[in-house]
Amino acid sequence: MYEHWLAERTHYFDASGIRKVFDLAAKLAHPVNLSIGQPDFDAPEVARQAAIEAISSRRNGYTQAQGAAELRQKVQQQVDAQYGAGIREAFITSGTSGGLLLALMSMVDPDDEVILFDPYFVMYESLVKMLGAKPVYISTYPDFQIDVQKVRDAITPKTKMIIFNSPANPTGMVASEEVVREVALLAKEKNVMLVSDEIYKFFCYDGTFASPAKYNQDVLVLDGYSKCYGMPGWRIGFAHGPREIIQQMLKFQQYTFVCAPSALQLGACAALETDMTPYLNAYRHKRDLVYEGLKNDYEIVRSGGAFYSFPKAPTTSATEFVTRMIQEYQLLVIPGNVFSRHDTHFRISFAADDAVIEKGIDILLEALKK
Ligand code: PMP
Repeated sequence: MYEHWLAERTHYFDASGIRKVFDLAAKLAHPVNLSIGQPDFDAPEVARQAAIEAISSRRNGYTQAQGAAELRQKVQQQVDAQYGAGIREAFITSGTSGGLLLALMSMVDPDDEVILFDPYFVMYESLVKMLGAKPVYISTYPDFQIDVQKVRDAITPKTKMIIFNSPANPTGMVASEEVVREVALLAKEKNVMLVSDEIYKFFCYDGTFASPAKYNQDVLVLDGYSKCYGMPGWRIGFAHGPREIIQQMLKFQQYTFVCAPSALQLGACAALETDMTPYLNAYRHKRDLVYEGLKNDYEIVRSGGAFYSFPKAPTTSATEFVTRMIQEYQLLVIPGNVFSRHDTHFRISFAADDAVIEKGIDILLEALKK
């Protein structure tokens, strides 16, 4: 009955896939939960104290749209150290998600084409559709690596943007430096905006992280502290890129988010001094647990990064398989069609206690016997 109040764009996409999983999950008393997209470690003590201190000392007003000076300066210094001074401008966003919305609002028009790698982080597809633009999917099955020739072939005069994500959600894929370089140079050659979502850059298990911004200074980088510092609810991220683009994003920030949460920006600023390497090592071990535990019985690619693995379901429909896992075993994983145009794989998040991961693996092996 409220239909006549709803904007046309509410029909452009829906969120029913993931909601169905959470509806099923809500009924479980003791789930084995391998579905969560956030780390199982907490924000560092210094960060929590700094946020409390910020509130107590009445830093409760707005910050500038570009962020609290303390944090923004530190981020700008890091960016300058990496890419050279005066080349890229940085500002603080309300999470990486906030940066994504501002980036797309600033650059994507209706009917533009935006290239996504399938499987993709769900928000990319929804945001592109929300803006009335057209997602163009490049399949990366079965090894989830990017085939640069396929990207070249997909570019048309309508292509405005490529959204690149390495390490990737939901596959755990890490692109090689060679692929990163080729994608960056292709975007430059074709004059297409390349957005690089680097939120998982801390979680690289087998090598160092490479950003396409190293090879193409027009690349817009989106990043954030949710995953690497265990503060997803704080909503602190950052963006850096060409000044002209950043200025437009800031204009939208001013009239939407206004600023990222003030006290939490100061908390995040304190977190930057913390060495999180022990967590990286712990997560590498979790990655190994999943891969070693399943490799003989499931079609699975060893994740190079992030905290996800994306094995193939043993039945034709991943949704059917996941429904069975939830109903029979209380095992929560996410069917691939939430992140993909294919319903063949499922996402395991290994951002969980080792014991929970081991239990999940036992269940997945047990399920094959029936
Ligand atoms: N990008 C990717 C690839 C993600 O997986 C997530 C979180 N699941 C985000 C962006 C958003 O992160 P946040 O807004 O918390 O920074």
